[in-house]
Amino acid sequence: MNVQIPAEGVMKTNEWGDSKVYRIACACGDESHNHNVWIEAEDTGIVVTVYTTTQTNFWSKARWYHIWTLLTKGYIDTESSVHLTKQQALNYAETLKNAIIDVEDFRKNNEQNKNS
Ligand SMILES: [Zn+2]
Repeated sequence: MNVQIPAEGVMKTNEWGDSKVYRIACACGDESHNHNVWIEAEDTGIVVTVYTTTQTNFWSKARWYHIWTLLTKGYIDTESSVHLTKQQALNYAETLKNAIIDVEDFRKNNEQNKNS
């Protein structure tokens, strides 16, 4: 089984060069199971964050709130599962891998331009 492009169950929702955002759709079709995946190149390296929607009204709180909760508590106290077909899981993995390479490259190129 090969990775698909464009990929079943994987949607790019945003991109800013040094960060990319994807939505991974649950195979059951329930949008509250979706993963929102942020791949970001930070000073400290690559940061990959997986958010799930709803169940706690995720978007009623700002993103920094959840990051703060994660930093101080180490977890966000809700649970949600995403169900993937084999094809989707492969696509998910490949998307993460490529996005990490992309944002890392972008950042490296930016650094070089700054220094030259
Ligand atoms: Zn589901």
